Amino acid sequence: MAKMRAVQVPNAKGPFQMVERDIPEPPPGWVRMRVEACGICHSDSYVKEGLWPGIQYPRVPGHEVAGVIDALGTGVAGWKPGQRVGVGWYGGHCGHCENCLRGDFLFCTVERRITAITQDGGYADYMITPAIALARIPDELSAPDAGPLLCAGITTFNALRNSGARTGDLVAILGVGGLGHLGVQFASKMGFRTVAIARGKDKAALVKELGAQIYIDSLAQNPAEELTKLGGARVILATVTSGKAMNAAIAGLGVNGKMIVVGAADEPIQVAAPLLIGGRRTIAGWPSGTAMDSQDTLAFSAQTGVRSRNELFPLERASEAYEHMMSGKARFRVVLTMK
Ligand SMILES: [Zn+2]
Ligand SMILES: [Zn+2]
Repeated sequence: MAKMRAVQVPNAKGPFQMVERDIPEPPPGWVRMRVEACGICHSDSYVKEGLWPGIQYPRVPGHEVAGVIDALGTGVAGWKPGQRVGVGWYGGHCGHCENCLRGDFLFCTVERRITAITQDGGYADYMITPAIALARIPDELSAPDAGPLLCAGITTFNALRNSGARTGDLVAILGVGGLGHLGVQFASKMGFRTVAIARGKDKAALVKELGAQIYIDSLAQNPAEELTKLGGARVILATVTSGKAMNAAIAGLGVNGKMIVVGAADEPIQVAAPLLIGGRRTIAGWPSGTAMDSQDTLAFSAQTGVRSRNELFPLERASEAYEHMMSGKARFRVVLTMK
């Protein structure tokens, strides 16, 4: 049997192991991808640290996977070997539970599949995935370009396009890291009056390059007061993983303003009830999206020039690459390449 390299986590909190495995055969309805690049996401820590209930080990992480279709299982329609495809967090659904029948596949209650949680992911030369989870990659995007767009990208793109903000509205991106540096680009390309909020003077030039019109340095300025001076934000997209940073910005929402939380902060978000009532303000969360949302994210990025800024590591340095991502020092996404 032909073999491949895979980087697996043997058990919760265990070390990454580079192993040789049989190249998997796709079951009916699934395809096999030859992986070209796979982004490393903070959510890979669910696998590494055993934070996801019921996860089976060993498990191969990686849910920002870009590659080429290599083989089709029986019954797969609409795809053929050689097509460039990607797969993100969403990894399949049952199609017959109530949420699926309402078209809300992400909340499937019977067979909710998540790439690299319920099935092995993309830290490998090959992986298999349900065909329903595939998104087409446009020619303009390289595999390392596409990888981070399949989780960090879709999450910020989809949250913004479903936020209710309209062209010209004041939209603030809180945090300029892996998610935020994409959020700023998307907000700007979608035609919002884009504010970036981050810590320190050194980010000012960068956020302008990414398309922000206004920069708020939260070390030197009060984000809520600055947003209020600008008329109040229609949307604050909270990409930070700090509840305190979110709390410091909430009062900058304008009337009907909405804070959309996409950063998985451990600390609670605290807000005074009158602030919500008085301005009809809301706080909401947003998960990533389905395969078509990924495809839309990739197409929009190809069309408008939105790109993730990546640091590339070869597959065999996955452990080091993961630690670099977790250190918070990566500028801005870390991507594994397979060649
Ligand atoms: Zn992710
Ligand atoms: Zn379902």
